[in-house]
Amino acid sequence: QIDIPAFIAEVAKGDFEAAYQVIAKSSALPAVCGRVCPQENQCEGKCVRGIKGEAVGIGRLERFVADWYRNNVHAKPVAPAPNGHKVAVIGAGPSGLTVAGDLAKLGYKVTVYEALHVAGGVLMYGIPEYRLPKAVVRNEIKKIEDLGVHFVRNCLVGTPESGVTVDSLFAEGFDAIFMGTGTALPQNLSIPGSDLRRVTQSTDFLHNVNAYVEGALPMEMVPLRKGDKVAVIGGGNVAMDAARTARRLGADVTVIYRRTQAEMPAIQSEYEDAVKEGVNFMWQTNSLEFLGNKKGRVCAIRLSTPDGECTEPFDRVFLAIGSRPASRIVSSTQGIEVDEKGYVIVGERPMGMTTRRGVFAGGDVVHRPQTVVLAMKAAKEVALGIAQYVDAIKLLQDCGLKAEE
Ligand code: FAD
Repeated sequence: QIDIPAFIAEVAKGDFEAAYQVIAKSSALPAVCGRVCPQENQCEGKCVRGIKGEAVGIGRLERFVADWYRNNVHAKPVAPAPNGHKVAVIGAGPSGLTVAGDLAKLGYKVTVYEALHVAGGVLMYGIPEYRLPKAVVRNEIKKIEDLGVHFVRNCLVGTPESGVTVDSLFAEGFDAIFMGTGTALPQNLSIPGSDLRRVTQSTDFLHNVNAYVEGALPMEMVPLRKGDKVAVIGGGNVAMDAARTARRLGADVTVIYRRTQAEMPAIQSEYEDAVKEGVNFMWQTNSLEFLGNKKGRVCAIRLSTPDGECTEPFDRVFLAIGSRPASRIVSSTQGIEVDEKGYVIVGERPMGMTTRRGVFAGGDVVHRPQTVVLAMKAAKEVALGIAQYVDAIKLLQDCGLKAEE
């Protein structure tokens, strides 16, 4: 929804503040999108200049404009007059932050419940610092806070410890609930040896490295030593991040991917950077078995390659073969229907409402692991759906009717 020609025209005039305002009309996280979006498939992929040569560097312009604004303009956004309605958002990833920001701008009182001690979701604990500095994410979140959004951190909704559930939120008087809880459960590889020590998830590794960079964990908690021979299994962004991060920490890294290079879902530039940094790749290669040593640690992988079977030595394996939603709150037992893989089923009228009235969902928990911008796009549509729903309920109440009727 960003008016790209209009924002570039302002950049060309040198009016970077006006350029920022054009982007900010539709995006709550421009400094993030300017850094991590797969621009080659999105804005730049559609640029007509790309037909005969190189596309305009739209992503880099977006990043420049957002950074310029952060460094030069210190105006706080004005929180709008309250409209008397309350919405709870569960999960402070890109989808939850977008819903929170968009509804706050419409005058809703929004409270965001986040399981971790920081808001940002994958932006804070998944994508590495060298690609997305955490100061940039914090600044984007601060702008949402300045709109009057309240954050409750360290609150895992749906557990006895937090005492916060979908029911308790409705009992507290929230008019609607948005779930943007992402896909927290990484998939395991069911092959012999997958329970060996040092066969772990890429997301856990990235989480620990991010926490170490933030000063929240000591280096000993990062499961990697200089010179380790590491296999990363997968071909998406998570695999590229784990491989590059391990490489930067001094490991000898090989990405093992079951399909061809052309079929790899990772952002092309991420792959190219990984190659430049010295990451090795094995294509059309399947892991058949993890072999262990006497200490119960992985020491090799038996592989099936296009040239036949082979066994390669590795000290650590990081899996990056996908993830799916955790069933804590996202489950049919709460009246929130999910499909066979655990993804939430939503309707279109109002946009994004689950099978439980007043509970909405969006982002990866509905659409499968995708991208930041797609999570934000879905969330923007759902924010409008929530506003329509709350208006409709109010209208019914004004007519003396109950929502059930
Ligand atoms: P998430 O970002 O997963 O946020 C969900 C939030 O909900 C989390 O903060 C979680 O702690 C919280 N939560 C979950 N359950 C509860 C609960 N019960 N109570 C309270 N809080 C809860 N996309 C790109 O566009 N470009 C990239 O370069 C890119 N790289 C990636 C690299 C990695 C390592 C990963 C993992 C993903 C990457 N992605 C990338 C994908 C992108 O980050 C996701 O598509 C996006 O973050 C989804 O947003 P979301 O809001 O749906 O979920």
